[in-house]
Amino acid sequence: MHSMRNSTNFGLMLQTQFNNIKIKKDMKRINLKQGNCPFCNEKVLDTAFMESENFLVIYNNAPILPGHSLVIPKNHIESLLELDQTELFEFTQLSIKAAKVILKVFKADSFNWTIQEKPAAGQTIPHLHLHIFPRHDNDLPNPGDWYPILKSSEEEQHKNIDSEKRSKYNSQEIIKIVNYIKSQINLNWNNLK
Ligand SMILES: [Zn+2]
Repeated sequence: MHSMRNSTNFGLMLQTQFNNIKIKKDMKRINLKQGNCPFCNEKVLDTAFMESENFLVIYNNAPILPGHSLVIPKNHIESLLELDQTELFEFTQLSIKAAKVILKVFKADSFNWTIQEKPAAGQTIPHLHLHIFPRHDNDLPNPGDWYPILKSSEEEQHKNIDSEKRSKYNSQEIIKIVNYIKSQINLNWNNLK
């Protein structure tokens, strides 16, 4: 908590950074050695709409609900527990900003924020990813019904990553949504702080 309180200028840095949204196509940051990891695939950059130095916010190519996004490290890091204090702070700051953007764009005031750590907890892709998805009244029969949907969606993603059938990363629909979110960030940034 102390390190967070001492970094009062960080919000301003992020604001400046995101006023001009351009996702760098810097392949050096993507660890391509993890060949079968969907989040280490360069195509993930097509789905990104926010970034910080070490993290990306991407739109889930198989959203369980509209607005379903993920915050991921650019490098192949499996666990939240591997992040040092500085990275953890950067991750949290970007994720909070992303949540505000997602709520604004998808006109919600409720959201789920969830990380599954290790297989026993339901992690199927061993690359740290925070799910953020907006919620609306009665969007699912029960508020907790998201979990089985998420689990089967992730298993499907993992299974098919090398398959030709797995072309959702480049789908025009995803690019359209991502471009729409980016345009909304630029329009509404002053209201998101
Ligand atoms: Zn990875």
